[in-house]
Amino acid sequence: MIWDTHAHLDDLVYTEDFQEVVARLLSAGISRVTNVGYDLSSSERSVKLAQDYDFIHAAIGIHPHNAEEATDETWAKLLLLAKQPKVLAWGEIGLDYYRDLSPRLIQKEVFVQQISLANEAGLPIVIHNRDAHQDVLEIIKAHPPKYGGVFHCYSGSWEMAKIVLNLGFYLSFAGPVTYKNARHTVEVAAQAPLDRILVETDSPYLTPEPRRGKRNEPLYVREVVKKLAEIKNLSFEDIASQTMRNAEIIFRRAE
Ligand SMILES: [Zn+2]
Ligand SMILES: [Zn+2]
Repeated sequence: MIWDTHAHLDDLVYTEDFQEVVARLLSAGISRVTNVGYDLSSSERSVKLAQDYDFIHAAIGIHPHNAEEATDETWAKLLLLAKQPKVLAWGEIGLDYYRDLSPRLIQKEVFVQQISLANEAGLPIVIHNRDAHQDVLEIIKAHPPKYGGVFHCYSGSWEMAKIVLNLGFYLSFAGPVTYKNARHTVEVAAQAPLDRILVETDSPYLTPEPRRGKRNEPLYVREVVKKLAEIKNLSFEDIASQTMRNAEIIFRRAE
């Protein structure tokens, strides 16, 4: 049983064969998938998928790329969505200085605002951080999320990982840990405590080896589990069950 903690199954690339993607993941032992929103409509689609499919849970939020679009009305609608029982996290939120699709000042304001909304909603956060390590650290130190959070597709150094682990965060690993140039990520995976790691695909992006470059889907979270098992010298089943347990702890809803 494996929990793919970060996927975008509402993406249009699955329109043609969605049912086959679902059949493949279920028959391969992937028993849960968190579908993650990046703007208001993808958050609504995530909640709809969670209503329609037992194995899907939802995260809702505004990605730093879309930070500029958010208005007070967006926040009001997201807070309503957050009350749905299968919404387990607020995300993905954070900073992306690689593509800089929204001005950095607005990205930061919207990140801070969503941490407080997550606190209000009783949800942990899912952090997207690309080339913004220092500012992400400053923000989570100044505005710690009450219900904790996850660094999705963790891409920082082990030095930074130690800091965020001390702050109580979980590290989620995706396809890049299987890439040949993934020395830093492999080092982080090797050192990270077993009870603080998660697995994800970020489908349809970040396809693991040996399929890198093709469309990703939750089935291939198995490649991430396999790689972590190899790095940590444990069995596939150990990593699958431990990351499932970890996800159950961080993604519990506050009562
Ligand atoms: Zn992301
Ligand atoms: Zn994502």
